[in-house]
Amino acid sequence: MRAVATTAELREATAAARKEPSEVGFVPTMGALHAGHRALLAAARRDNGFVVASVFVNPLQFGPAEDLATYPRNRDGDLAVLAAEGVDLAFLPDEAEVWPAPPEVRVHVGALGDRFEGASRPGHLDGVATVVAKLLHLVGPSRAYFGQKDAQQLAVVRRMVADLGFPNEVVACPTVREPDGLAVSSRNAYLSAEERRRAAALYRSLEAGRAAWSAGERRPGAVEGAAGAVLAAAEGVEVDYVALVEPAGFQPVERADAGQVLAAACRVGRTRLIDNVILG
Ligand code: AMP
Repeated sequence: MRAVATTAELREATAAARKEPSEVGFVPTMGALHAGHRALLAAARRDNGFVVASVFVNPLQFGPAEDLATYPRNRDGDLAVLAAEGVDLAFLPDEAEVWPAPPEVRVHVGALGDRFEGASRPGHLDGVATVVAKLLHLVGPSRAYFGQKDAQQLAVVRRMVADLGFPNEVVACPTVREPDGLAVSSRNAYLSAEERRRAAALYRSLEAGRAAWSAGERRPGAVEGAAGAVLAAAEGVEVDYVALVEPAGFQPVERADAGQVLAAACRVGRTRLIDNVILG
C-alpha cells in the first residue's frame, strides 16, 4: 500500500490507476477505522482492481459546538487497517491540504439537507456534500462506497451524483452492528460503560418499529410510535427524532411500505447517535 498526503500525489497515482485496465473503487472516511469501514473497504476490494481510501476529518461538516477537536484520530491504526484490507492507495491529507482556505464555492443541498440530520446539525450535509464532491474529483473513481448507517448522507450523495452528473457509481453497504445491535461507530468510543449499555436502546427501538410493520401495521405514525415508545422509555436516552421516510428524499410517507427507512437519532449522555433500518 502506498500512503500519500498531497492532492498532487493523489491525482498522479489515481490517473495512473485509471490507465490500467482496472476500475477504481473509493472509500471516503473520517478515520478511527472500525468494522463498518472494513466492510466498505472489503466491498471496494471485491469489486475493483484498484482501491483508494481517504482518512480526513472534514471541518466543514462540524458545527461550532460539535466534536471536531475531540473526534477520535488514530493514524497508525488506520494505516494498519487500510493495509490489511488490501487498499492500494491511502490518502491522509491534513486540513490545509484539502482546504488551504475555506472554500468560496460549496455544494448546497436543498430541502433534503434541512430535514432530520440537517435540522439537528445545520450545514452538516452541505459540508459532507462539498468534501465528497472534492474527493470524488480528486480520486476519479468508478465506484464510491458509503454506509447505509448514514442513510440521509447516502441519499444526499446519491442525489448530488445524479443531479450534477458525477461519472461514478454510488454503492451502499449494509450497517455493521455490535452483538447487541448497536451500529458500530467511531463516536461509540465516547460512551461510558453505562452509556454504552443504554445505547443499545436505539437499535431495539428501530427493531420494535420494524416488528410493528412486520405484524401488519401500515400507519407511518404507528410504526414511528412503536419505535419512539421504546426509545422514550430508555433510561438516560434523549430522543432527537424517529421518522419513517422514503430513502431517496427523506420525505414523510403516507403508508408504511417495504423499502422505506425508519431513522432515529438520540443523545446518550453527551454523545449523539444515529441509526436506521429498512422495512422489509
Ligand atoms: P465516517 O468515518 O464515520 O465518516 O464513515 C465513513 C463511511 O463509513 C460512511 O459511508 C459511513 O456511512 C460508513 N459507516 C460508518 N459506520 C458504519 C457501519 N456501522 N456500518 C457500515 N458503514 C458504516
